[in-house]
Amino acid sequence: MNCPFCGHTETRVLDSRPHDERIRRRRECLGCGKRFTTYEAVDRPMLMVQKKDGSYEPFDRHKLVTGIFNAIKKRPVNSNLIVAMVEELEDEYSRQMRSTVTSSEIGNAVMERLKYIDAVAYVRFASVYQDFTDVAGFLAVIGALDKTDEK
Ligand SMILES: [Zn+2]
Repeated sequence: MNCPFCGHTETRVLDSRPHDERIRRRRECLGCGKRFTTYEAVDRPMLMVQKKDGSYEPFDRHKLVTGIFNAIKKRPVNSNLIVAMVEELEDEYSRQMRSTVTSSEIGNAVMERLKYIDAVAYVRFASVYQDFTDVAGFLAVIGALDKTDEK
């Protein structure tokens, strides 16, 4: 990091904080003593979602939130909880430096979390997401729900 005033290569970081998607750093030049601010991008791989048909698309937070909402329509679930849940999920993949995640991984992760937010929403999301073709699949989801209640 060269000082924009004198070109000196050494600086001291005075303050560092997140700013939007970037890190804002207040720096002081060790050569001339002048202060300046840098905005540094966090270098994370772009997260791609592999769909069931094998094709890829960029992870879309809004699309996922909308999808969950459509699946759990009219349930008393706070929208902030869903948004927070999706953000948390995205952060988790990002921390793991993942570049690809499958749609079924996302679906399972969403189901895991919904279970604790709203039982009916969970079953409804599961039925939409897993696209039940048989009763056994549906019963398996209900079974998983019972285990949650026992805790
Ligand atoms: Zn300087």
